[in-house]
Amino acid sequence: MCAARLVRHIERVFVDKSIPTSASEGIALGVRKFAAVRRKRQAGAPVLPESLRSYIAFAVTLTLTRRPVLYFDHNATHPLSETAKRAWLDAVEKFPANPSSPHRAGQRADAALQNARGRLAVLLGCGADEIVFTSGATESANAVLAQFEDVSVSAIEHPCVIESVRGKSARLLPSAATGVVALSDFSERTPHLVSLMAANNETGVLQSWRETLAVCREHGVKFFCDAAQWIGRMPAAGLGACDFVSGCAHKFGGPQGVGFLKCPANFPPLLRGGPQEEGRRAGTENVAGVLAMVAALEECEAAIRDGALDARLKWREEFEREFTAALPGARVLGAGVARLWNTVSVIMPETADCRRRWVVVMDRLGFAVSTGSACASGKEKPSHVLTAMGVSPQDAGRALRFSAGWGTTHYDWRALLDGVKDAAREMGVALA
Ligand code: PLP
Repeated sequence: MCAARLVRHIERVFVDKSIPTSASEGIALGVRKFAAVRRKRQAGAPVLPESLRSYIAFAVTLTLTRRPVLYFDHNATHPLSETAKRAWLDAVEKFPANPSSPHRAGQRADAALQNARGRLAVLLGCGADEIVFTSGATESANAVLAQFEDVSVSAIEHPCVIESVRGKSARLLPSAATGVVALSDFSERTPHLVSLMAANNETGVLQSWRETLAVCREHGVKFFCDAAQWIGRMPAAGLGACDFVSGCAHKFGGPQGVGFLKCPANFPPLLRGGPQEEGRRAGTENVAGVLAMVAALEECEAAIRDGALDARLKWREEFEREFTAALPGARVLGAGVARLWNTVSVIMPETADCRRRWVVVMDRLGFAVSTGSACASGKEKPSHVLTAMGVSPQDAGRALRFSAGWGTTHYDWRALLDGVKDAAREMGVALA
């Protein structure tokens, strides 16, 4: 077997099996596989060729390539940060009680929860009584939109907003080809609520939420900002001025399943039952999750204050420059407008076989990247965000999203560029 075929074979085995994401995980996997093979052999059972192949694949891959999977899908979920993990473990040990319980252990848990609420309110610039902890940005958005009938929502909102306004008197605010939604006035009618996200999850394009808030204020319209992709990547300061803000911890290194809603102190209950969250959301609070979320956010905010974004923005820009130079026919979505420092969304050049999607090949080559939409020839519909930007269904079928995290290095971006080139070669796409 020639070297290239051997490597391809190894990679195929790894995609089918669990993929080690670090050397230590790889070693653990190899040891487990080796032990399993030995046990089978000792028991006199015939060793499954698949297990043996997997073991050999692991050993060869680790020794020859030593390449862990590079994760470029942080807009889907940012892995738990060390700070958040420590805060979570600390919280479950120190505050095991129910924060609604009257005994001292319960009161200690409640005090920790209120302390976290206050710290989050300071970062957003709002009152602590305006924060309700939720299960995430979906729950928060659903709760806001359930309260309004006459709404204007941007055409590029997350499905948790778009799906919440079905059947309502809703107007879609159009997107420019750049991915920017601009609202300068209410020419046709004045809605009760405007919903515009702070940063788009698919393209990373930053939205003019401050300007939109000002227009809404002028006309006495409530403003909801889904800040799920902004929070923890851009400064949170100022968001507290919006009537409603949603966010979730797992986009910035906190745990999944915990988030918040900034809303008026007298907002109707999101969930009914007990008196938790000042009667605005019944159900025992996720104390450890909240503490981990706030610790993760504070860490991100500190990094932003220390100027960590400048270098990261340069790495992204360098990647984009070299990427478009290397791949004739590829283009970056939202090029020329302000975008999150971590997100590059692209339309890849055409390939002969659409079914061999870039994301699958990249995965096999060791890069976890994302596609916002499927091949136009497939069953899935093209992304509503790209459609709103005027991208054709054919082009949308070749959309790829690379989204970095706080731990992504300059080296990782450069490795990604090499990975894209390798994928292009494998798919027969011309390189410059
Ligand atoms: N809003 C935006 C912009 C998002 O990117 C996401 C998650 O992808 C959500 C809302 C929903 O977040 P969650 O799934 O944590 O509720």
